[in-house]
Formats: sequence, C-alpha cells, structure tokens
Amino acid sequence: MSVPFLDLLAINARDRAALIAAFTRVVDSGWYVLGKEVEAFEREYAAYCGTKHCVGVGNGLEALVLILRAWLELGAMRLGDEVIVPANTYIATILAITENGLTPVLVEPDATCNLDAALIERHVSPRTRAILPVHLYGQTADMSAINAVARKHGLKVIEDCAQAHGALHAGVRAGALGDAAGHSFFPSKNLGALGDAGAVTTNDDALANALRALRNYGSHRKYENLYKGVNSRLDELQAALLRVKLPRIDADNQRRCDIATQYLREIHHAQITLPVVGANNAPVWHVFVVRSAAREVLQKHLHECGIATLIHYPLPPHQQAAYREWNDRSYPITEAIHQEVLSLPISPVMDEAQVRAVIAACNAWPGA
Ligand SMILES: *Cc1c(COP(=O)(O)O)cnc(C)c1O
Repeated sequence: MSVPFLDLLAINARDRAALIAAFTRVVDSGWYVLGKEVEAFEREYAAYCGTKHCVGVGNGLEALVLILRAWLELGAMRLGDEVIVPANTYIATILAITENGLTPVLVEPDATCNLDAALIERHVSPRTRAILPVHLYGQTADMSAINAVARKHGLKVIEDCAQAHGALHAGVRAGALGDAAGHSFFPSKNLGALGDAGAVTTNDDALANALRALRNYGSHRKYENLYKGVNSRLDELQAALLRVKLPRIDADNQRRCDIATQYLREIHHAQITLPVVGANNAPVWHVFVVRSAAREVLQKHLHECGIATLIHYPLPPHQQAAYREWNDRSYPITEAIHQEVLSLPISPVMDEAQVRAVIAACNAWPGA
C-alpha cells in the first residue's frame, strides 16, 4: 500500500473533460486578460464566501500585499505601522506586511495552532492598525474574540484564507469574517487552480475599488494611473478553470472532514497528539497535522510503511535567514510546533483502504 501526500493529478483528472472545455472556451474567446471569466469567477466566489466583493489577483501573497497597499493608499495606515500576526504562519503572511514597509508584531498561537486571541491585547500599541489572523491548516482562528479586540481598538482585521476555503466560524465562511481576506488558489490548496491564482474578498466598497485599480497598474481607466499599482491580475484562463472546480469544493471538503473524523476517532498512540478544534469552528482540513516529540522517527516509520508525510513548517519565519534581524528572538510555543508537527495525507481522492493504512501505520508505530 502506498499513500501519496496529495495526488493532484487524480484530483484534476476528475474534471478533465470540463477543464479542457473551459480551456478551449478561453482559447476561442480571443480575450485573455480581465474578461468574462474573471468577472464570472469573482461573482461566483463572492457568493460562495458571502461577501459583496471578490477581486481576482495573481496569487495569495499578492492578495495580502494589495489589501495592505490599498489601506496605505486610502490613508487607513502609514509606513511603519504595526500589524499583529501569528508567529507560526507560512512566511507569505509576514512577507505581505514587510513588503509594504509595515511592521509585523509576532504573537504566539494557542493549542489550535492559530493566533492566541487572549495574547493580542497586550501587543496592541499606538501604532497598531491591523490584526492578520491566519486560518492555518484549514481551521479558522477564533474570529469572535479577534473581532472583539479589533473593534475595541479600532483595528482592521485581515484574514489569511489561503488554507481555509469554505471553513466556518460560528456559521460564517472564512473570507467573510473580517474587513478583508486574502485567498490563494495555488494548485495544492483546497480550491486549487492549475497554476498561480488568488483573490481578495471584502464587503468594503472603497477597498474593493482601490484593489481593482492596484492590481492593474493603479488604473481604473486605461492610461489613467491613480496609484503606483502593480500587475497582479487573475488570469482569464485560471478563472475559467477555477469555475469548473468551485462547485466541487463543499463535497471535497466534506470528504476531508470524513477522513479527519476517522483519524481523530481511530488513531491512538501515547506519542502522537491529534489536532485540536476550537469552539464554533468547522475546519476544512487543508492538512491534518499531528504532533510528536519524536516527529522524525514517526516520519521515518510512516515512510517505511509507504505513507508520504510533510512538515508544515520546518522553520518559523523568525528563524529564517530572510528575517535574520529576528533570529535571536524566542517564541517557545511556535518553536515547539515547528519541531513537533507532521502532516498526514488527507485529500478528497483518498480511498478507504488508504485511510485505513494511515491509521494502522500510526497505531503500529513502536514509538521512540
Ligand atoms: C499558500 C499560502 C499563501 C500564499 O499563497 P500563494 O498563492 O502561494 O502566493 C499565504 N498564506 C498561507 C497561509 C498559505 O498557505
């Protein structure tokens, strides 16, 4: 039995004919940038998230970069202002902040591996303008608590939804839980394109309007440039392919949830800690992350059983060479997470035998 971590070929093969038909439609349209497909996807994805606006952009990183850039342009923040962000996120979240000349304030996560809402308030300073929670591993952060702190201090809330398409907090979809949200449609995400793609969702008219210009050279009207914008447009072809895949997202997430339920119920091992789900949360299990003090030994054992695993992530942002100015800082909870986490295979195309093989291999681990 061999269990791949994520079989993207099998995932997209299910829609092969429809994807090729969409591709053909774009080829034959004669219109390749910012056309009907992007418009339609923006409408459909906004409806899915339950927001007024969706603005398609080049990728997930640029979605976050442009939200902050728009608020800088609109005067809601200034260079050097502070953005509160979890210390254990993927580096893209942090890059979006520093790219804009803003200052990340790293805050430790709680047992769910998401931003610890109870720690936020002590990090709010007169320069704080925003909180940027990341819905890591497919589970939303504690948005009720985070929004309460934000309201109290007049802060913007930006969700990093790259791993959480369709996740719910208190019945509200990720992407509609803050002032704005960045989404990635990188191929391996729950809703994945066949290349790079991203989007911003928001109910804020002024923000959406600024974003439509910023992604297109700062221009609303051809050759009139209101902002120093960038070229970060969602590709017409990727939009057409995403429209094929969007109707599947709920069923695919349900399959992930069923597998997660089986793992949670049937993996029993003194040296494996299972993931924790927060109150009011319905996660979409982008990855299923267990923890073990003997993570390397567990990974080797699973590899010998034919089970592929990955580590999300081996090194936190503050220990990366890119942020060498932070390398001597200490975030013990974050560092322990990065030393202990291991992601088991989970995907909508895994079959029952594969799920059982993962469970059996975990339970048969002699331990360390
Ligand atoms: C994937 C990811 C991103 C970046 O998305 P890209 O489309 O690859 O730029 C940002 N944040 C998180 C948490 C991610 O997992």
